[in-house]
Amino acid sequence: KLVEGEALRKKLHNTILELKGNIRVFCRVRPLLYDDAADTETKSVYFPTTTEALGRGVELLQNGQKHSFTFDKVFVPESSQEDVFEEVSQLVQSALDGYKVCIFAYGQTGSGKTHTMMGTPGNYDEKGLIPRSLEQIFESRQMLQNQGWKYEMQVSMLEIYNETIRDLLSTNRSSPPESGTKQHTIKHDANGNTHVSDLTIVDVRSSREVSYLLSRAAQSRSVGKTQMNEQSSRSHFVFTLRIVGVNESMDQQVQGVLNLIDLAGSERLSKSGSTGDRLKETQAINKSLSSLSDVIFALAKKEEHVPFRNSKLTYLLQPCLGGDSKTLMVVNVSPAPSSINESLCSLRFAARVNACEIGTPRRQMSARQLDARFNYG
Ligand code: ADP
Ligand code: MG
Repeated sequence: KLVEGEALRKKLHNTILELKGNIRVFCRVRPLLYDDAADTETKSVYFPTTTEALGRGVELLQNGQKHSFTFDKVFVPESSQEDVFEEVSQLVQSALDGYKVCIFAYGQTGSGKTHTMMGTPGNYDEKGLIPRSLEQIFESRQMLQNQGWKYEMQVSMLEIYNETIRDLLSTNRSSPPESGTKQHTIKHDANGNTHVSDLTIVDVRSSREVSYLLSRAAQSRSVGKTQMNEQSSRSHFVFTLRIVGVNESMDQQVQGVLNLIDLAGSERLSKSGSTGDRLKETQAINKSLSSLSDVIFALAKKEEHVPFRNSKLTYLLQPCLGGDSKTLMVVNVSPAPSSINESLCSLRFAARVNACEIGTPRRQMSARQLDARFNYG
């Protein structure tokens, strides 16, 4: 009876999610910083206070013209890291129920992507989404163990720079990035599992172990940075946690994936001004960010052809973007007037990803499919 009730609750939860669709877009406006304030005291971003738009609307004032946007949720400059996590904790939790989840941070360099995802190391209040997610997952695992669930978790971390994958947990860091002969190739198997050749995958048993790996990855990124001209803002950082849960007494198994992605800066580097490596970078970033938006757009529109293969990033995440997986895009915006053009671009990008949601119900999962998924029986 207890199992039945639980199954019913999950089904109901899923039905609600199906109706709402699987793509969410949040917007986070960071505070005005000391460096921004130099250009002027005024801000270019406003928050409508009508009840309808409260907490969901953003307005931009550019040359006296107002641009309005609505999202699933808007975080104001005063919103804390905890406020943000509160809104995503359920999504994170669903990876333990066997869902494939992607959370992206999008925005120009300096808009708060890394602050949102990683936070400030060493400062408990300023911890970002990645450490908070891991703490929650390992805490829940502890509780689920008492109900007979055994979980195995694996972590990998990589960076995509100029359409090339770099393993951030590789212990062999002697050779500079890109000069190595190792080319990481991506393959998806019939079960929807992704395999990246020669990628370091680490079994983890606690959030502390993952913290250690995160700092190792950060170190590895900054090594690349000095060699490669601020690479970290020019590359996508992809953190992946694979979760396999088995409950023998209930004869159930779940496989979830949590992908947390700090995207490359979305600013437009003027193409005319950039040459050589810089131009190549710009093209690679533009290509992958526009591919990402194309893919999400095509998925929501249920188009027959989804252009996953147009970029490394979308191909890597293919099994975690389609089907009944869940996607959240956090669009980070700076309120500084000097950033207004970039902010408008970011909001428009987000609006495209968001607007495709409205009025297009996503594929409905039948009760039978749900049963198969959770092995309810
Ligand atoms: P990005 O990763 O998009 O380039 P960062 O996350 O590095 O941007 O943020 C740029 C600067 O702004 C950093 O100094 C960061 O600490 C600060 N910052 C970003 N968002 C916030 C926020 N919500 N509250 C306080 N400071 C923030
Ligand atoms: Mg950053």
